[in-house]
Amino acid sequence: MARALYPGTFDPITNGHLDIIRRGAQLFESVDVVVAVNARKANLFSIDERVDMIRACTRDLPNVTVLSHAGLMVECLRERKAQVLLRGLRAVSDFEHEFQMALMNKKLDPGCETMYLMPSEQYTYLASSLVRELAALGADISEFVPPEIETVLRRKLSGGKRTP
Ligand code: ADP
Repeated sequence: MARALYPGTFDPITNGHLDIIRRGAQLFESVDVVVAVNARKANLFSIDERVDMIRACTRDLPNVTVLSHAGLMVECLRERKAQVLLRGLRAVSDFEHEFQMALMNKKLDPGCETMYLMPSEQYTYLASSLVRELAALGADISEFVPPEIETVLRRKLSGGKRTP
């Protein structure tokens, strides 16, 4: 059975991400959720905050580990002795970028396989950016993120600053 990495920004983790993690944890020997450090993106939560939030939501999954990585994901793949990059494919709009990334990662490391899971139907339209906007506008987000994430998000939006 292969080991998988699930890389992303997770700003913040949503029920859509958790759906992929849970299903991945059943398919793979292990799933390492990797918060990718990307200096070009302005994020609401710091890397450490995002790692802590994901850990809090995946405590019940023994074969899931959460870490962060700065640099190429294929390097992380080698370091973690994993073979698969796991990603979610929500809509056709995700496809072009994912296609490019999968081929580039394969070029960088021919042993790297990228595998995609379709989100469960109710999460198809869910994105971290949408959750941040809804929360900032005071909408109910309880259907989209676990309760602990909702609390942290509301606290952050009521006083926190953007962090790199
Ligand atoms: P990135 O900036 O790398 O796209 P994200 O945190 O937005 O990072 O997403 C990480 C991965 O999770 C991506 O493969 C993305 O397609 C997937 N994903 C995001 N939201 C959902 C969702 N609602 N359902 C399924 N997969 C999702």
